[in-house]
Amino acid sequence: MRQYLDVKDKHPDALVLFRLGDFYELFFEDAVLGARLLDLTLTTRDKGKEDAVPMCGVPHHASRGYIAKLTELGHRVVIVEQVEDPRLAKGLVKREVARIVTPGVVLDDDVLDPKQPRYLAAVVPTKASVGLAYLDATTGELRATELSPGELEGELVRVAPREVLADGKALGDGNALAILQTRIRVAWNRADIPPTVDAAAGELGKLPGVIDARERPLALRAAAAVVAYARATQPAGALPIRALELYRPGDAVVLDETAIANLELVETLIGRRAQGSLLDVIDRTVTAPGGRLLRRWLLYPLVDVAQIRRRQDAVAWLALRPALVERLRGALSRVADLERLAGKATLGVATPRDLGRLRDALAQLPELIALIATGTTKLDPTPPLLALEPAREPVLATLAARLGTSLVDAPPPLLKDGGAIRTGYDATVDECRGLADGGKEQIAAIEEREQRDSGIASLKVRYNRVFGYYIEVTKSQLARVPAHYARKQTIATGERFVTPELAELEKKVVAAEDTLAIREAELFRAEVLAVAELAGPIAAAGAALAVVDTCVALADVAASRSYCRPIVDDGFALEIADGRHPVIEAMLAAGEFVPNDCRLDPDAEQLVLITGPNMAGKSTYMRQVAQIALLAQIGSFVPARAATIGICDRVFTRVGAADNLSRGDSTFMVEMRETATILAKATRRSLIVLDEVGRGTSTFDGVSIAWAVAEHIHDAIGARTLFATHYHELVALAESRPRVRNVSVAVREHKNEIVFLRRVVAGGANKSYGIDVARLAGLPKQVIGRAREIMATLESGSALAASPQLSLLAAPASPIAARLAAIDPNRVTPLEALQLLAELKSLT
Ligand code: ADP
Ligand code: MG
Repeated sequence: MRQYLDVKDKHPDALVLFRLGDFYELFFEDAVLGARLLDLTLTTRDKGKEDAVPMCGVPHHASRGYIAKLTELGHRVVIVEQVEDPRLAKGLVKREVARIVTPGVVLDDDVLDPKQPRYLAAVVPTKASVGLAYLDATTGELRATELSPGELEGELVRVAPREVLADGKALGDGNALAILQTRIRVAWNRADIPPTVDAAAGELGKLPGVIDARERPLALRAAAAVVAYARATQPAGALPIRALELYRPGDAVVLDETAIANLELVETLIGRRAQGSLLDVIDRTVTAPGGRLLRRWLLYPLVDVAQIRRRQDAVAWLALRPALVERLRGALSRVADLERLAGKATLGVATPRDLGRLRDALAQLPELIALIATGTTKLDPTPPLLALEPAREPVLATLAARLGTSLVDAPPPLLKDGGAIRTGYDATVDECRGLADGGKEQIAAIEEREQRDSGIASLKVRYNRVFGYYIEVTKSQLARVPAHYARKQTIATGERFVTPELAELEKKVVAAEDTLAIREAELFRAEVLAVAELAGPIAAAGAALAVVDTCVALADVAASRSYCRPIVDDGFALEIADGRHPVIEAMLAAGEFVPNDCRLDPDAEQLVLITGPNMAGKSTYMRQVAQIALLAQIGSFVPARAATIGICDRVFTRVGAADNLSRGDSTFMVEMRETATILAKATRRSLIVLDEVGRGTSTFDGVSIAWAVAEHIHDAIGARTLFATHYHELVALAESRPRVRNVSVAVREHKNEIVFLRRVVAGGANKSYGIDVARLAGLPKQVIGRAREIMATLESGSALAASPQLSLLAAPASPIAARLAAIDPNRVTPLEALQLLAELKSLT
C-alpha cells in the first residue's frame, strides 16, 4: 500500500492502475469510480476488517480495452508496472510508473482514428491575447499560435483537441476560460505552464522554430506546456517532435465555430455525423496521413493565391491523367502510415509487425516515384507538389534493405511471440534456434523410441508450462512402465513421468529459448533505434506521400463529379456559373440537382438578398456558394461549370435561431451575439452568409433587425454578403441601397399548388407562400382554407390598424411605413429620434 500511496500522491487526479501479479488493481475512490465506469465488481482488500480498502481489478491481458474506455471517457490513467521479476525480488517487488495514458496522449492503434490527429492542447490566456499550442504525440506535429481571446473558441473547435491544459488559476471559477470549458466539452486539465520565455525555451531545447517563437511568448509557453505534459506520460521513450510550427490566424481563412458547423465542413449540423459532411464527399484519400492532411486543408483554407495555385496545378495535372490516378490509388493504398510508424519507433512502442509494415512501405517508395514519373511529359512536367522529393532520400532505401535482412517477411504482432528476426541474420539467433529445434526434434524422437522399447503404443511425450516435458502413460499400461521412469504426477487417466534424458534435453531447449528471446529482443531494439534515428526523413517521406494522396483524392472527385478548376485571384469578385451544392448533389440522382449562378462583388453586387418561400432552396444556395469558395481556397476543383473566386479572408455564417437546430442553447440572444461578432469583424474581403437572421423573434422585430443589419453591412462593411430571408418586405432595400441585389428562388403556382423550381432568378419574391408550404406539410384542409381567408382580408387592407405586425404583412412595399410603425414615440429619446429621422430619410 505504501508504494501505491506514493504514486497516488503524485497523481491525485488520475486513476492509478497498479500491477499485482496478473492484474491491474484500482484502490479507494479510484476503485469505486473504476468499477462504475468499467462495470467491474467492487471488492475489498483485507475483507472483514474495519476500514477495508475498496478495490477492483482488470486482468493484465485484457487491460488495453479497459484503459481505452477510461481515456475515451476523459480520464487519465497512470499505469504502474512491476519492474523486477517477482520470483527474483527480495521482499517487496519494485514498481514504477510505466506510462500515463491521457485523452490527449493515446498511442493505441485500436483507439486512434487513422484519419484524425489526436491533439493535446494547452492555452495560456491573458486579457489581450491567448497562447494556444497543440501536439499530436503519435506523429510529433506541434503547432502554436497567438490569438485574440474572441478567436480562441473558434480555433479550439477547428483543432478539436481531446484534452486541453491550462494553468490552475486560469481554470478557476467565473473567468472566460471556465465559461469556454462548459462550451467545449473535452477533458480540461490543470498543468504547469512555464512562467517565462526562458523556462519555456529550456523545456523545448534546440527544436527548430523555438528561436522565432521567442517573439510570441504566450505561444511558446503553451507549446512548452504540452510538450512537458506529454513527455511525462512516456518515461521510457522520446516524443517524435521535429519542429515547433508557429502560425498566425490570418495565414488561413478565419472560420469560427459557427461557420465550421453551419457549412458542415467535417460533420453534419444535425446529428454531428462525419457522414454527409463536405469532407466526407471529397475524402477519397486511401492513406491515413492523406486523410489527416485533407482534413487539415479543409479546416485551414489558404488565403495566398500562389500557394492555392500550386495545389490546383497538382490537382489539375492529375485530373488529366485518370489512368495514373487509378494506379496511384492502388499503390498508395498499400503504403502504411509512415508518420505514425516513425512516431512509434521514436516513442519506443513499435512492434515487430510495425517495423515490418514500415519496411514494406519504404520498399514501395521507388514504385510510387516511378509511377508519378510516367505522367511527366516535356510540355507538362510533374508539378512540384507531386515530386516526392523526400521519398528519394537514399537512407530510406538503405533502411528498407536493412529491415529486409533483419526481419522476417511477416513479423509477429508482439516481440514476445518470438520469431521476428530472420534466420541467417545473426549467429546467436541461428544457433539458439538450432539448439531449441534440435532439442525438440530429439524429444519427439524419444517418444517413438520409448514406445518401441517399452511396448506401450499409447505412450506420449507431452509438454506443459508447469512441468515442462514429461511422458504420459495410461492406466491400463502402467504395469509396463520401465524402472528408470520417475513418477511426477497422477492424473485421472494415468500417470506422468520424467526421465533424466528428458530433463536434460528440456534444460537445453529452455536455455536455448531464453537466450534466443534475449537476443531477439536485443536485435529488435537495435532495429527500432535505427528507425528512430531516421524518424525525421521517414516522416518527411510520409508527409510527401500524404500530399500526393490528397491531390489524387481531389483529382478523383473533380473528374468523377465534373468539378471545374476555379480561377482564384486577389480580386474581390466571386462569380459562379452553374454552381452546385457538393453534398446535396451527391445525395441526389445525377442531374437532379438544379445548378445556379452567383455573382458577388463589393463594388456592384455586394449584398444579394435572397427571398422565397420556406423550402425553396435559399439555405442550400448560400451554403453552396460558401462551400465552393472554401473548396477553391484549399486548391480543390469546385462543383460548377466555371468559377472565379476573389480570395476571402474570413467566412461568416449565421443561421436564424429557429433554423439553427444544432445548438441546444439556440436562442435569439445567441443569434444576435453572433451577428454582432460579424458586424465587428468582417472586412471588405470577407464572405458573409446570413440565413434568416432575426427569425428568432417576432416578425416585427425580426424584419427591423434584418433590415438594419443588411444596411450596416452595405453601408459600413462592404463585405460580399448573401442574405436569405423569408421576409419579402426586405426587397425594398434595393431601392435605397445601390449595391443590394434582389434574387429569389423561383416557385411556380400550378392549380393552386406550389411547385419548387430550385432556380435562383433576378428579382425579389413578392409573396411568401407560407400557406402553400403549410399545405404541403399536411395542415388540415379547413385550417388552410381559413388561413387563405384571413390572408385575403389582411391583403385587402381592412385589418391594417389591427396590429403593427399584421400591417407589415399587408404593406410590404413601404419600408418607411414599417419603420414608423415600429416606433413607440413614448420610448424614444431625443437622440434616437434624430437618428431615426436620418434613417427614414435614407429610405426615401
Ligand atoms: P430554404 O432555406 O429556402 O427553406 P432549403 O435550402 O433548406 O430551403 O432547401 C430545402 C430542400 O430543397 C433541401 O433540403 C434540398 O433537398 C432541396 N434543394 C434545395 N436546393 C436545391 C437544388 N438547387 N436542386 C435540388 N434540390 C434542392
Ligand atoms: Mg433555410
